[in-house]
Amino acid sequence: VPGFAKGARALSSELEVLRDYLQQHGLRFTPEREAIVKEIFSRHDHFTVDDLYLSLYRTMPLLIEAGLISEVFQDSGHTRYEHTYGHEHHSHLRCRECGEIIEFHEPILADLEMRVSAEHGYLASGHRLEVLGICPSCQKKRSS
Ligand SMILES: [Zn+2]
Ligand SMILES: [Zn+2]
Repeated sequence: VPGFAKGARALSSELEVLRDYLQQHGLRFTPEREAIVKEIFSRHDHFTVDDLYLSLYRTMPLLIEAGLISEVFQDSGHTRYEHTYGHEHHSHLRCRECGEIIEFHEPILADLEMRVSAEHGYLASGHRLEVLGICPSCQKKRSS
């Protein structure tokens, strides 16, 4: 067919379709939206939203094993995670009232980890420190 091949374009990828759609509707192309679309298009079944949750849930231990993410702390029964790959090891300060989290880096903790694990014959693979307390702005609210 003359002219057919000329006008034929490769089908846009699902991510391009989403990006165009969002742009036309003044919506943002967020990493969350991208991740969901990638997950959906990587499977070939008739899935429910619960299936999506489940596969994300099952991936978490894998990502921890691979050293990409780590558990930060338990928050009223929910585990919180953060991605650690490529980030300097750090510890957390957490406000009990507003939930604010501050990250800090304290080299002395790495020395402590080595010393304590050596004392107990442990082969250490990391540590986690969370300091709980009340942040400055919550302290102000309390005293006012
Ligand atoms: Zn606070
Ligand atoms: Zn952190």
